[in-house]
Amino acid sequence: MKVAVIGGGGREHTLAWKLAQSPSVDKLYAIPGSAAMSEVAQCVDIALSDLDAITDYAKNEGIDMLVVGPEVPLTEGIADLAQAKGLAVFGPNKAAAQMEGSKVFAKNLMKKYHVPTAAYASFTDGEAAKAYIKEQGAPIVVKADGLAAGKGVVVAQTEAEAIEAVNAMMEDHIFGASGGRIVIEECMVGEEASLLAFVDGKTIVPMISAQDHKRIFDNDEGPNTGGMGAYAPAPVVTPEIRKEVEEKILKPVVDGLKQEGITYQGCLYAGLMITADGPKVVEFNCRFGDPETQAVLPLLDGDLAQIMYACAKGTLTADMVHWKDAASCCVIMASAGYPASSHKGDVISGLDAVDKEDVMVFHSGTAKKDGQYVTNGGRVLGVTAVAGDLKSAIEKAYANVKRIHFDGQQVRSDIGAKGLKHLK
Ligand code: AMP
Repeated sequence: MKVAVIGGGGREHTLAWKLAQSPSVDKLYAIPGSAAMSEVAQCVDIALSDLDAITDYAKNEGIDMLVVGPEVPLTEGIADLAQAKGLAVFGPNKAAAQMEGSKVFAKNLMKKYHVPTAAYASFTDGEAAKAYIKEQGAPIVVKADGLAAGKGVVVAQTEAEAIEAVNAMMEDHIFGASGGRIVIEECMVGEEASLLAFVDGKTIVPMISAQDHKRIFDNDEGPNTGGMGAYAPAPVVTPEIRKEVEEKILKPVVDGLKQEGITYQGCLYAGLMITADGPKVVEFNCRFGDPETQAVLPLLDGDLAQIMYACAKGTLTADMVHWKDAASCCVIMASAGYPASSHKGDVISGLDAVDKEDVMVFHSGTAKKDGQYVTNGGRVLGVTAVAGDLKSAIEKAYANVKRIHFDGQQVRSDIGAKGLKHLK
């Protein structure tokens, strides 16, 4: 098979790294890819926003399957376009991608099919939204309906903070059209975890669970980021909880979509709150998570391209997917100023000094300058280590992070610590 990964971040580097090991892949492309991805794939410089050019290129080049990393091309319909041109694609079509593209759509579907999630109401009128906040009281959560690059959620501790969020989204339009409609929901209490699943339209095969670390500083303090690290599996997702997520969340969603005339194919990512009443949905994503991918895929035993192709063709079976009896930890190294800003051009040293076995350095935001890697984004590198148990994976990841350096680097020192607490 000829396979093309769409995107150029750390998640896509991980997808390309794993796909390059697939026996069924003869040639791997990355559109647009990155300097680091060019070590495993042929990079093709087409803008991520030019869906016609991407799918035309794939068609002309005889590419068999597109693997779409980010959410924006999916919500804009890259899968529909690819299918119309006869290409197989791993990633949901435009209608199915609404599970991430519209929080109102996802919440309404969950309500209709009795999927456990926070109680909510949706609004297109700011005054009605504010009245609802006053009626419900704080803490309360305000969410922009559409995509907002992970920034469209305010967990408000006071009514004033919630009202300020409504004003920012609906009057100041800080997220543009994405905030024209909002969801206001109950604030859930618990520990968060993610369960991603391969889906072929009817068959759902969950991956191993993972836990992200959204805040920039240790102990989950400071502003939200794209994610500062992840580990897998997450012990908070016990076998019982995992079963509950499969039966009460993933299956009703995929079956419910089917009843609505929508076929979901690709990766369905359930962001969960493990509450005292069991797992509840925080959000759905229509693609792999970043950095969960960097923690989850190194533990996959099997041919990723074959699994993805089966998702695209509706022929997925559980026996295609196996997991190593091991644990992983991915520590993100971010650049100076992140998440408010980022710093480009700082030289990265020590990449040659990392262990060659069971340690992978996935590039989120780097470029090559004069033969050397330099920083080129907010999140720069994800250093993943795999070991027999979580404690060893964490130690190995940090031992390797210490060998890498760039000016202004920001690294959390407690990735995986929450997982260890469960194992005590
Ligand atoms: P989302 O983009 O929907 O995942 O929201 C971003 C973050 O906000 C989540 O990872 C949670 O930490 C938090 N969050 C979202 N919805 C809720 C909720 N209903 N209750 C508590 N926290 C939430």
